[in-house]
Amino acid sequence: MGRGPTNLAFMLAVFGSACASIPEAPQPVGAPAAPDVASAEPLRIYTPVEQAEATRVPAPYPALPLSVGVSPRRPRQASVVTVRIIVPPGPALERPTATLAERDVLLVRDDLGWIGLAGLPVDGSGLLELDIRGRRNGVEEHERRVIRVEAREYPSTRIRISAGAASDPEVDARIARERQLIRSRLTASTDVWLPEDPFDWPRPPVRTSPFGEGRVFNGAVRSRHLGLDLRGRRGQGTYAPAAGRVLLTGSFFYQGNAVYLDHGLGLVTAYFHHTSIVVEEGDIVSPGQLLGRVGSTGRSTAPHLHWSAYVNGESVDPESLIGFLLIPKTAADVEAAETQASEDNGGDWK
Ligand SMILES: [Zn+2]
Repeated sequence: MGRGPTNLAFMLAVFGSACASIPEAPQPVGAPAAPDVASAEPLRIYTPVEQAEATRVPAPYPALPLSVGVSPRRPRQASVVTVRIIVPPGPALERPTATLAERDVLLVRDDLGWIGLAGLPVDGSGLLELDIRGRRNGVEEHERRVIRVEAREYPSTRIRISAGAASDPEVDARIARERQLIRSRLTASTDVWLPEDPFDWPRPPVRTSPFGEGRVFNGAVRSRHLGLDLRGRRGQGTYAPAAGRVLLTGSFFYQGNAVYLDHGLGLVTAYFHHTSIVVEEGDIVSPGQLLGRVGSTGRSTAPHLHWSAYVNGESVDPESLIGFLLIPKTAADVEAAETQASEDNGGDWK
């Protein structure tokens, strides 16, 4: 029976560049069939005159349509986007549900209506469908928008597989246990959004292995590096990029000594390969707070920080979080953000 060393040699041959890539379920390739609807319209803020008009005139329902926006308006593959539903004055929108590219969006109510986060697929670009359902005045509503997602190219590296590779049942069982534990935590995010400031880097942004790098064997991409490696010497600090709650810490086969932070609304970020960890599960961390010390534990060949991010359990590029800021709570906040964005010529609100 093939045991230990041969299996490790195999894993290192397959996954061991600077940082191990963690095999995940296959990602769907390509966008779902695009429905025949218009592209997402700019987010509509109702003016005070319209609001007064809407509240003065009772039903007929619906007085004003829902306003749906996605930010940024031209997102890239594997990035985090904000979904905003503005409910006009009048009947409330009850128990709305939303999906983007057939993935659930966790929605929470705020002053303007409902808001949530979505993670765009690592391998899907083109036109993706945003689907929103809910009830107003006892009537079912179904809104659809099409989001245009910009494609991105991932680099790839060839890998070699050494002969005599064999699996180790004990290691396989451990990996399966850890994968199940981590997956269950990744989908246990709170619906309270914790960050009040834009996301920052957990270490200085010197990238040593890019997000999405494909490991090619026999001409096919066998796995992707679903995180971003940042340079770090052993013992240097890793820091919370935004406020969050420590969702999970542990010593795992691939990830080594790892910290998982829950920021709320389904967004979790993770930090791998530490030599030591200084936070505990349940801790609330502030932006810039020390999480641990850079190391090379788990499937890693040199000290560095591997940074991952997930929305509702699906991997996204953590770099898409840099500068990310939620949530305008009032119409005035959104208007101010829109004004600023148009002045910046970006056209996006956050
Ligand atoms: Zn990595």
